[in-house]
Amino acid sequence: MRSSSPDTTIDQRPARAEATDGSHRALQHQIAEEEMAYKITEDCISCGACEPECPNEAISMGEPIYVIDPSRCTQCVGSFTSSRCAEVCPVDACVPDPEHQESNEQLLKKWRGLHPGEEPTPGTF
Ligand code: SF4
Ligand code: SF4
Repeated sequence: MRSSSPDTTIDQRPARAEATDGSHRALQHQIAEEEMAYKITEDCISCGACEPECPNEAISMGEPIYVIDPSRCTQCVGSFTSSRCAEVCPVDACVPDPEHQESNEQLLKKWRGLHPGEEPTPGTF
């Protein structure tokens, strides 16, 4: 079986080892899979705690619960290292929305569009 393996297998190994070596790559992988705008589920009790926490004014009172505007949600990229709405919500109603998956670059571009003339906070993107 080994004799049937092409030399290219050997050539690929350093690349794979490099790609899986260290937590930085692991973090990038996690980000690539999980970055997306957030949404508010029906568990929302309309307490209003999340609205003032959003750095992008993406949260507003809807009918009958609060809602997140995905065009303004950057998953807090550019402002915080984690999602503020999810941190303050007492019922865990702020969750990632798989229907609005975006790359880190897209989220940062969105942030820049919402904050013209400002610079994103280091370490948040
Ligand atoms: S994840 Fe951040 S940017 Fe998105 S709605 Fe929540 S607080 Fe706002
Ligand atoms: S903090 Fe949670 S429960 Fe309160 S308004 Fe926001 S999503 Fe709804």
